[in-house]
Amino acid sequence: MKFNHLLPRWEQRHRCPQGGEHYYLPTSHVEATLDHVAVRFRCKKCGRLSTAFLDEPTYQVNKNIINKYAGDKNDDFGA
Ligand SMILES: [Zn+2]
Repeated sequence: MKFNHLLPRWEQRHRCPQGGEHYYLPTSHVEATLDHVAVRFRCKKCGRLSTAFLDEPTYQVNKNIINKYAGDKNDDFGA
């Protein structure tokens, strides 16, 4: 499962050097601020990092799935 839909629109339009769209998976880097929750994502194909700034309700909806994937061995780029 990729998480591209959580990223900013311009980031979704950016093409992966490996071909096609990036395949973003969450890392365990999650940072809460007053206004939003910043979640760091990494493309599993090219390693590109991108940060999604989610508002609190959106983060709550996606929290479980983010945590599930963030703990995975998908994260083999050495965060
Ligand atoms: Zn990529």
